[in-house]
Formats: sequence, structure tokens, C-alpha cells
Amino acid sequence: MNPRKSYRFHTQVIHAGQSPQDWQGATLPPIFQTASHLHPTAEGLSQTFAGQAPGYIYMRMTNPTNRVLEEKLSALEGGQGAVVTSSGMAAISNTCMALLRAGDELVAGASLFLSTYLLFTNIFPRYGITARLVESTDSQAIEKAINSKTRFVYLETIGNPKMDIPDLARVAEIAHQRGVPLVVDNTLATPYLCRPLELGADVVLHSTTKYLSGHGDVVGGVIIDGGNFPWPEERFPDFQPFVEQKGALAFLDKVWREHHVSFGTTQAPMHSYLTVIGLDTLALRMERHVDNALKVARYLRGRPEVTWVNYPGLEDHPSHNVALKQFAGRGFGGMLTFGLNDQEACFRFIDNLRLIYHLANLGDCKSLVIHPYSSQYISFDEPTKQKLSITPDMIRLSVGIEAVEDICEDLGRALDSLSK
Ligand SMILES: *Cc1c(COP(=O)(O)O)cnc(C)c1O
Repeated sequence: MNPRKSYRFHTQVIHAGQSPQDWQGATLPPIFQTASHLHPTAEGLSQTFAGQAPGYIYMRMTNPTNRVLEEKLSALEGGQGAVVTSSGMAAISNTCMALLRAGDELVAGASLFLSTYLLFTNIFPRYGITARLVESTDSQAIEKAINSKTRFVYLETIGNPKMDIPDLARVAEIAHQRGVPLVVDNTLATPYLCRPLELGADVVLHSTTKYLSGHGDVVGGVIIDGGNFPWPEERFPDFQPFVEQKGALAFLDKVWREHHVSFGTTQAPMHSYLTVIGLDTLALRMERHVDNALKVARYLRGRPEVTWVNYPGLEDHPSHNVALKQFAGRGFGGMLTFGLNDQEACFRFIDNLRLIYHLANLGDCKSLVIHPYSSQYISFDEPTKQKLSITPDMIRLSVGIEAVEDICEDLGRALDSLSK
């Protein structure tokens, strides 16, 4: 066993996947900025292509810098292997495409990240694929939606931006009873708060763009295989060659060999390098994110201009108890939403912020706001916005790691401007 596996999370984020002895003593992974790798013999390259010998071939397939990040993220989630991808959406679309064929179905929580929602409801139907969307917190509805055509259940640890939190252990149990795997987008929780594989999930995905890299400097994604799902032949006949060849890593091999390579969703090695540096401080950053977010949620709740606050850390939040159990008391995430009177108030509030950045991203160490209704969701029709809880009075706030007093003062100043 790798002795590093026994280290605690705060140590693993820094040391997992590190091998300075292979890097001429360098404490950070070299950036292998090369499209291709030399092979001394024809026989050797043939064996590498056949998967019978280790080695790197071509950057679209594998890269040594990317491999370091893959090992690190797989260790942090307790997985058996990982593939990093060019974006979070590449991780999501590759995973789904590897699991689906024309005529198949999937069951997903309804409060999905918007590009995932569009993929499931707009693009998949063109290929004869049906996504059944149900409330992610309603385990019974998930159970009912699974049928003989279902190939997987898909959930987000914390719905973005609805902030609803499904009971992953319960849903994993239901999915497995019905013979299908559970895929979890763990972007908003990160392995600091939640390790879905330990709760029974089978595949974990991330947008590494957010908390994992933490500095708003890269776009990237990762697919992590838990290696425990048996891929029964009856429902997954197309998986059998991979099960025979790769055993526990059947899914990872399929998604890598068929989809990652064919769709060309390569992570730039420079992005992996920056993400490795970002991960060094993940545990520290998350401690501060969750601490600040709870204080900010309480502050906002005390302000008369704020009509509602949606944060799982507040005791009356519908997902509070699930979050307490599932996130092991470590906190409730760094993102929240809140209401002002109307869109006009939201615009005026945003225009009066000085410290907090107004932009489309989250999970940065800097505090960020956006008015989703008029920006990311501008092209969605009204009924869909309502279904996704995207209302004109809603502000989304990704709470950063600045001094919480400064964050609250900035929010306070912008709220003051509403009564002027
Ligand atoms: C941002 C995000 C994604 C998409 O990631 P990209 O890196 O932007 O492609 C997927 N899921 C969640 C929950 C996200 O927040």
C-alpha cells in the first residue's frame, strides 16, 4: 500500500502524487510542454499502444504533468484512477457519452448547473437520449424514475444555484439496488467537504476551474472512477470488453480510450501545473470559504433590504441536516444566494460594490457576485427559469477568503445604496 494513503486530508492535498525524486528534486511537477514522446524501439511503441507497457505517446491521450494532477485528485476523492479534461463540461459530457447509447435514459437531479442542464435537455434528445429530471432531494422520485433503459443516476453534491443537497448514500443504495451507477458532480463541495465515492457513488466529476484550482486562472475538469461498480452484462453489454481487459478500471478506460481521445478534450499541461499549485491550499481555503460564507449568510439575514437568504448552513434550510451529516460537520460550502426587492435593486446593488468582483465564475479565493437571471440564464424561457429557481430578485454570491469584515462592509455599503 502507498504509505501516502494513510496521511490526513490536509497533508494529502499537498503531498499526494508528488514525486520529486523523479523530477530531479523539483518540488513542483515539470510542465511537459510536448505534443509527443520519443520511443527508442518499434516494439516498445507497439506495446505502449496496446496498453501492455507504460509510457506516454501523444498529448491528446496522456501527458506526464496531467498524470500528476490525475493521481492527486484520485487520491483526494479516494478513487482508483482519474482523467483530467479541458473543462468541467468536458468531464461531464465525456462521462455521459461513455455511459449512454441512442435510446438510453438517465435520471438526474433537476437543479443542475446550466450547461449540464442544456446538455441533458437540449442536446441529448437529438441523439435519442432521455434525461428524466426529478428533485434531487426526493429519493423516492429518483427510485421511481429508474427503469430498464436507465444507465445512470446523476447528481450534484450541492445544486447550483438552488443550493439543495441530495442524500448521496441513500441515492447510491437505491441506484445500486436497481443495477445502475451513481455519478456525482462534486464541484461545489470539493473533497474537503464531501467524498461521494465513500458514500457509495461510482464516478465523481469536477470542474477544476472552481475551488480545486482556486484562483480563477484555469479552466479544467476531472473524471474520477471509484472502481467498484460491476457493470452487469445485461444492462451494460458494451462495457464487457473493458471489464475483461481492465477490471475495476473498466469505466475509466472506456471514457478515456473512446471519448477523451476521440473528442479531443485534452487538459493543457500548464493548467494541470497551476491546479497542482492551487491544491496545496485547498484545505485552508475551504476552511475560510465555509467560515466566511456562514458569517455572510447571517449578516445578510439581518439586513432589512434582503428579502431571503438561501444557504444550507442556516438552521432552517431544508438541506441543513443532510449537509451536517454528509459534510461531517466541516461546513456548508462557500456559495449562497439571496433576494432583493427586484431586478432593479439587484442591478443597483451590484453597481455599488467596490471590493466584490462582478463576473461569471465561482470558487475563486476572491468574492464574486452575479445576477443569474439577466446574465447566464438570459436565453432561457420563463417557465424554465422558474423550474430552476432562477428569479429576477436573486443574487448569487461566491464568498471568498478575504477578511469577512471587509466582505460584509462592501455588501453593507451596496445595500445602503438601495434606500438612497
Ligand atoms: C462550473 C461548473 C461546471 C462546468 O465547469 P467548466 O470548467 O466551466 O466547464 C460544472 N458543474 C458545476 C457545478 C460548475 O459549477
